[in-house]
Amino acid sequence: LRQGADCVVDVQPVRWEDIGGLDQVKKKIRQAVEWPLLYPDAYQRMGLPLARGVLLYGPPGCGKTRLVRAAASAIHVTFLSLSCAQVYSPFVGDSEQKVVEAFQKARALAPSILFLDEIDAIVGKRSEASSGHSVQERVLSTLLNEMDGVGTRLDEKTSSKEISEKELEGNPSVCQPHLNKKVATKEVRDRSHVLVVAATNRLDMVDDALLRPGRMDHLIYVPPPDRKARQKILEVHSQQMRMVGVDMSQIAADTEGYSGADLENICREAALCALTESLDADFIGPAHFQHALDTVKPSLNMNETW
Ligand code: ATP
Repeated sequence: LRQGADCVVDVQPVRWEDIGGLDQVKKKIRQAVEWPLLYPDAYQRMGLPLARGVLLYGPPGCGKTRLVRAAASAIHVTFLSLSCAQVYSPFVGDSEQKVVEAFQKARALAPSILFLDEIDAIVGKRSEASSGHSVQERVLSTLLNEMDGVGTRLDEKTSSKEISEKELEGNPSVCQPHLNKKVATKEVRDRSHVLVVAATNRLDMVDDALLRPGRMDHLIYVPPPDRKARQKILEVHSQQMRMVGVDMSQIAADTEGYSGADLENICREAALCALTESLDADFIGPAHFQHALDTVKPSLNMNETW
């Protein structure tokens, strides 16, 4: 992970099999995120415009970020992320500049995914009473301009070579297929394409302008895990643990309202509980999981809509 002044180039690979459940969502994401980056020629042949944006929405801690990372890892494109904390600055004009720089970097390192987490906090929603001059509104307007120009501008100040060398300095693990041919298994043909993937827990707080076709072309709902998905998530996060007598299917049944992040916590808490009993412990049993269930509370309110 490399932290720059403006955004982060993320290199931690995630495999599709490290995501429990969500089979339908994975399919949709593969199509919406991977296809435009992998098969631009096919889109052109069919007269389809390349998607510029994908918006994932759904409850917190249920795998939105992990899904995007898995897509980026699978096709070996650059993954950059920009959060609200990185955008906002007390200096006038600085926030808009951060967005511009993130796009410049994403284009220079294309094909790439620029991930905007908590997009509602980054750009918010304009109200009828708003003047159009707040920082959030200026950031929104910068983002819209950049998205409208994604993949078509060639006038970048920083050349791909300069950025690549800067980014890669001391960081051989940055995943870029055109620079590190060994890791690329599929050919990524359109090097200029930047796909914006945004995530939110509050779809109602995202400005309509972002949802127009040509901007966020796909809206994908990432739901809370059902029983089957919860079991898969528990299995993913306990695969390195030695367990004796633990019935994961029962734990999955008992964890309605738990997010993926909560389930990961349960596995960690159960292992810690075993170690707390004895530092020589070499397995985790049902009592440790019971303790974890008593300790970790579900974070999702299943009556809420996201
Ligand atoms: P937020 O909206 O709060 O940003 P998110 O939806 O982006 O959350 P992630 O950051 O992807 O959620 O996941 C949070 C944690 O929960 C991660 O550590 C991830 O490992 C785990 N997790 C969530 N869903 C799954 C899943 N389906 N399979 C495996 N792990 C999961």
